[in-house]
Order: sequence, then structure tokens, then C-alpha cells
Amino acid sequence: MEKKIHACNSILDLIGNTPLVKLNHITRELEGDFYAKMEFFNPGHSAKDRIAAFIIEEAERKGILKEGSTIIETTSGNTGFSLAMVAIVKGYKCILAVSSKSSQDKIDMLRCMGAQVYVCPAHVSADDPRSYYEVAKRLHQETENSIYINQYFNELNIEAHYRTTGPEIWEQTSGQITHFVACSGTGGTISGTARYLKEMNPKIRVIGVDAYGSVLKKYHETGKVDKNEIYPYRIEGLGKNLIPEATDFEIIDTFIKVTDRDSAHTAREIAKKEGIFAGYTSGAVMQAVKQLSDLGEFDSESKVVVVFPDHGSRYMSKVYSDKWMEAQGFMEGVKEQEQKKVEV
Ligand code: PMP
Repeated sequence: MEKKIHACNSILDLIGNTPLVKLNHITRELEGDFYAKMEFFNPGHSAKDRIAAFIIEEAERKGILKEGSTIIETTSGNTGFSLAMVAIVKGYKCILAVSSKSSQDKIDMLRCMGAQVYVCPAHVSADDPRSYYEVAKRLHQETENSIYINQYFNELNIEAHYRTTGPEIWEQTSGQITHFVACSGTGGTISGTARYLKEMNPKIRVIGVDAYGSVLKKYHETGKVDKNEIYPYRIEGLGKNLIPEATDFEIIDTFIKVTDRDSAHTAREIAKKEGIFAGYTSGAVMQAVKQLSDLGEFDSESKVVVVFPDHGSRYMSKVYSDKWMEAQGFMEGVKEQEQKKVEV
């Protein structure tokens, strides 16, 4: 009898179908049951694998991408890594225009995945020809057979989550989910997932997490961009200083804002209490859950699903470094409290 080899055809077969894990300790004091969708189980360690694979495969179906084509995007973050991964496996070139603010680690990681990386000055305005937006646009115009992913304005970003993340969560909870809480950056994750979930049950509450320094929450409430809401903050991937077309504001019931400091401490708490080493925005979403609980959002019947978008290893020199935490002033008062606990 022929013996079968149990193997995937490529790393891309492992995208999606991420596990849902019950949180047992960090939520002990809260009413309801809480589950985390572990997006760092994707092979590129983030939810962005889903949109990278989906957008590229859609372009293949439509005949836009052919042998030797080039994929172009403006990000040094998770999307860049996922695009580079999908491109290398499928044999496309990948060009990423990134800001000079990006850490050397991130740039090295993208180059290791075969991407051609253009480092563009961070201090220039978005319409300056040297900005990473403009460089990407120019490279797209100059490169034959290229596509510009433009995740903030690409409807397929929503559709990827509508087709995959939404149905997975519905199945995994056997339709019992009552609340869906997710960080909003491009808005693709929350909009696509919520669109599917609300089609299945319109009563599911959908709550977006935003950063102080971002315009999303205020825009959702007023329909206007308030420039006073915009100021620098540290959490990457959460919130925005413009209105992304990949966000379906109508499907989101409410937004809640979290601080850099609280989110950082909550990320560290997830690791210590649940043994889950997740990224900075996983801290943000759990911080939001705590605040929502204080506001009376949940009761004993609630079945709350949150998204953990990426892995903690991407934040070794940030949230998981005491030195970085101290430099941000996030450890003030914390050391004294820990010391008191030891003395008791
Ligand atoms: N967390 C992290 C770490 C991210 O990189 C992103 C993407 N910007 C998000 C959350 C938010 O996901 P989305 O863009 O789908 O709103």
C-alpha cells in the first residue's frame, strides 16, 4: 500500500483557520466568557497574511498578476512581511516603500523575505515626492506589470476577513458570540469580520478599539475629521490620522480609546497570566475589554471574541523591553508597587 506524506504544499496553505483560545485568568474578575482569535498562528505571524494572500489571488484570478509581476505597498509592518512572504512563494517581485522611522530589524526582516525595500524620509509631508506614498505611486507607474495594494483604500481588505475570519469565528463559537472587539487600523479586520457576523446575527455588538491621537472614534460619532484629535502616539497598527476607505463605519456599533501605557502593561499581563506572547495591539484590545467591562457592557451570558493580531516577538525592543518601557515613562509607580508586593 502506498504510504501518504502528510504535508502542506507550501507555507501559504497554513494561512487562516487560526485557533480560538479561552482566556482564563486575565478576565477572572469580569462578567462573561472571553476568547482570543490567535492571528499570530498564521505563518507570517499576523492577520495580514489573510489579506496578502486574498488580494494577490484575486489579482491572479482577474489576470492582473502574471509571471514576473511586481507587488508594491507602503508598509514596514505586518502587511509588508505577509506580502513579501506570499510574493516569494508565488514567484513575484515585492517592492516596499517604508518610512525611515522603521526599525532596522523590520527592514532586515523584509529584505530576508526577498523584498526590495526603499527607505524614504519620515519628516516630509505625504504629498512630497520623497514620501513613501509618492515613491510607491511612482514605482507603480514606472514598473510594468505591477499592482499597488494600497490596503487602506482597498475593498478586498474587508472581503478577505468577510470570507475567512468571520465564518471561522461563527463556526468556532457555534453562533453563540455576543460581542466582537477588535483594533481598527485600516479597519479591514473589524469591518469584514463584523459584516459576516452581523449577517448571521444582527444583535452581535461590534466594538472598535482606537488610540488616543487617532481620528476614528470621533469621526464615527460626528462624521467629521477633527484635526485636534491627531497627535503622535506609540501603538503601531491601531488608529489613523485619516479616514480609511477600508473601514465600514456603519457596521461598528461603538469605538473605545485606549492609552499607550495601559495597552503596554496589559500586553505584558497577557503573557504573565495566560502564557500567550502577543503583540502590542493584543494588549490594546484586552485593555479595551477591561474598560468596557467597567462600563457595564458585558453580563454573565456574554460570549466575547477579541482578536490578537500579531506575535510578541515583533515587540522585543519595545513593549517587552523594560528599558523601552522606562524610557516612555511607563514604569513610573510600577516598580514601587511590585516592590511592595514582594515585601508583603
Ligand atoms: N494590530 C496590528 C499589530 C496591526 O498591524 C494592524 C494593522 N494595521 C491592526 C492591529 C489593525 O488591523 P486592521 O488594519 O485590519 O484594522
